[in-house]
Amino acid sequence: MDFDLSPEQRMFQRAVHDFCAAEVKPYAAQVDETGELRWEAIRKMRDLGLTGMQVPEADGGAGLDTISMAIATEALGWACGSTALSVAAHNGLCCAPIANWGTPEQKARYLPRLLSGEVLGSLALTEPGAGSDLAGGVQTSARRDGDNWVINGHKAWITNPRYAPVVVTLVRTNKEAGTRGFSMLLVEPGTPGFTIHPAEKKMGLNGSTTHMLTFEEVRVPADALLGAEGRGFPQTMQTLDGGRVGIGALGVGLAQAAFEAAVRYAQERRAFGKPISEHQAIQWMIADAALEIEAARLMVYRAAWLKDQGRDFSKAAAMGKLMATEVAERVARNAIQIHGSYGYSREYPVERIYRDQRLMTIGEGTSEIQRLVIARHVLREMAL
Ligand SMILES: Cc1cc2nc3c(=O)[nH]c(=O)nc-3n(C[C@H](O)[C@H](O)[C@H](O)COP(=O)(O)OP(=O)(O)OC[C@H]3O[C@@H](n4cnc5c(N)ncnc54)[C@H](O)[C@@H]3O)c2cc1C
Repeated sequence: MDFDLSPEQRMFQRAVHDFCAAEVKPYAAQVDETGELRWEAIRKMRDLGLTGMQVPEADGGAGLDTISMAIATEALGWACGSTALSVAAHNGLCCAPIANWGTPEQKARYLPRLLSGEVLGSLALTEPGAGSDLAGGVQTSARRDGDNWVINGHKAWITNPRYAPVVVTLVRTNKEAGTRGFSMLLVEPGTPGFTIHPAEKKMGLNGSTTHMLTFEEVRVPADALLGAEGRGFPQTMQTLDGGRVGIGALGVGLAQAAFEAAVRYAQERRAFGKPISEHQAIQWMIADAALEIEAARLMVYRAAWLKDQGRDFSKAAAMGKLMATEVAERVARNAIQIHGSYGYSREYPVERIYRDQRLMTIGEGTSEIQRLVIARHVLREMAL
């Protein structure tokens, strides 16, 4: 889609696409099978600005606008779901809050390393007993003790901590204060009492490892507080709004990859004396996929554009994420259908894409939570 991309955005799109086609996509099956990211590619991402996409140039980042971030994340998703998820989480969930709320000292301590391509950052919100309902369910707490915060609790389903120099961690610093009682702390792996458990065994996204974390009397200095004390909850909501544009773009990329594979296959495979692409039932699946991918991409880009304009993009981000991730699921499902038995085989990429896309309607807010966000906005806008 290039309806109104600027010449710079179009050039960037071409560069990222070519990079992903050469360095990421050919290795996607290997990343899935080995459970290891391809660091050779991640190191090279630094030169394209993909390791600090929206970190301001003044802080050493690429200072990309949000549409360019969506372009890059879509290309990564098209190439490899695991790589895309880890890089999207690094950018949207770790670099973004540090760039937004970090003190000059915190930025100087973490951003150069985070942007280096040698590590990937992490954000820990979810807990064994709390995902959608963070406000009601988060138990991990931090108490002040002299010049330290002392953290206790568990986090679950956390992307990237194994590679991270820092895990941005949501904690309760005041149990009585409701959503005003949360704060974000910067926790460095290796701190005594901080355990990163072995990777979860997942359905897909196997190269992007996901871990449970335990905090037992973990002491971090007072200046590990990211942003103001008590502001952790709105900071989380703001971070997730931005992250949703990224996950939406990732969904578009996964859908595009499944679509391309299915269209190619449909033109090669023959049944009843002609390529299956000449059977109308297959054409309808192709047409619906083309239509839905285009619609999803436009919605994600619109949310990105609103964010770049400094306008409220929360509803648009929820709509874009919901649309794109549900489209990805339908398109990947039909891509397997078009492949017949071959689609069910690990020999063909649609099998992996189908497993990888499944997370997208769950992570960074489930489809149900996106609908809740959208409905809240609509009811507020149309209040009697
Ligand atoms: C691969 C992977 C990577 C992840 N990476 C991270 C990460 O880096 N950092 C992090 O913090 N978390 C991460 N997560 C966690 C993810 O964000 C949560 O799993 C997600 O937010 C859903 O939370 P939950 O699993 O606790 O589901 P729950 O909140 O228990 O929801 C269960 C079901 O109930 C529904 N539900 C809940 N509340 C409502 C409601 N009010 N109305 C209607 N339906 C409702 C949900 O939509 C869902 O269908 C990751 C998860 C996975 C699988």
